[in-house]
Amino acid sequence: MEVTEKLTKTHEQVLIARDDAIGYHGIIAIHSTALGPAVGGTRFWNYESEAAALTDALRLSHGMTYKSALAGLPLGGGKSIIINDNSARDRTALLRAHGRFVDTLKGRYITAEDVGTSPADMEIVRLETQHVGGLISGSGDPSPHTARGVFRAIQASHQFLRRTDDLSGVTVAIQGCGNVGYNLAKLLHEAGARLIVTDVNPENLSRVVAEFAAKAVAPHEIFTMQADVFAPCALGGVINDETIPQLQVQIVAGAANNQLLEERHGAMLRDRNVLYAPDYVANAGGVLNGCIELLGWTPEQALEKINAIYDTVLHIFKSAKEQGITTNEAADRLAEERLRNAVA
Ligand code: NAD
Repeated sequence: MEVTEKLTKTHEQVLIARDDAIGYHGIIAIHSTALGPAVGGTRFWNYESEAAALTDALRLSHGMTYKSALAGLPLGGGKSIIINDNSARDRTALLRAHGRFVDTLKGRYITAEDVGTSPADMEIVRLETQHVGGLISGSGDPSPHTARGVFRAIQASHQFLRRTDDLSGVTVAIQGCGNVGYNLAKLLHEAGARLIVTDVNPENLSRVVAEFAAKAVAPHEIFTMQADVFAPCALGGVINDETIPQLQVQIVAGAANNQLLEERHGAMLRDRNVLYAPDYVANAGGVLNGCIELLGWTPEQALEKINAIYDTVLHIFKSAKEQGITTNEAADRLAEERLRNAVA
């Protein structure tokens, strides 16, 4: 609970809503609206406690502020959670209740899909509020665009270390072959990379193995693989005291949010000569594509911005080197500078 109390002080607004009749229990966390309305998806997930869900919402919304700021967007950071305690039978009723909750904020918070929700779910949320993106009828599934951004971050990392964007013959170990992992594997395969993959879902794993000639390993083995790049595309917190000593790669660049269990793990990576592409910079492709709906961009404008993740990642690496700080610190400093300028 300590973490939650501390983080709550850093957020603009944190709300909890319940509707016991349908089993709805939701959280909306708004970290910042300094740059614009707070944007962030709706996570539908089972947590061991409300405090655990709250902690997740606070961390994720904080990350969204930094992601939007670094992507140069006039948007802030938020996140919402529908706690899945398996008590609700009617998913549509839950999503509609969530839509009503989002609507009470009158556009200060705009939602979209996230882990556990889909563009089709957002169509249901849309029945109750107009403050929702990522619709089937709008910018759709963000995952291929997130994957493109991660691909560009891997290219930038390779450029920084090896002075080339060419990924042919480069080995990438991907953890998680879901929506983003699958699309990332496709792009890397097309670029001639060799793939080592893992997933706890056998169907997702075998699809990537069959389609992209990837080598499958057990989930616990992925950290120990001899490869150029480790791409976490499953869960947060996977870069930690236990996994860092196992890593046999020069680059960590993936889609998962909050990959570093704690900030100090960025320094641990650096001390082992592992270059870390900060997660919220690498995985901004989905939000950037969402700007087609949110800001009226054309698909071409969105693609241009997603490809520019390459430049942002390189800029962060260079500034980290110049200032003698970790790449996650360099990214945070840049985002905080943009937030300060917005407030000034
Ligand atoms: P997903 O649920 O489609 O895929 C995640 C995959 O990871 C699943 O196949 C799951 O079986 C697998 N997995 C779960 N636990 C695992 C474990 N311990 N070891 C190996 N595999 C495991 O999710 P996604 O949309 O592909 O997102 C992946 C990550 O990227 C998430 O952390 C998400 O928050 C983040 N992210 C996604 C987007 C997006 O556009 N979808 C954008 C930004 C960040």
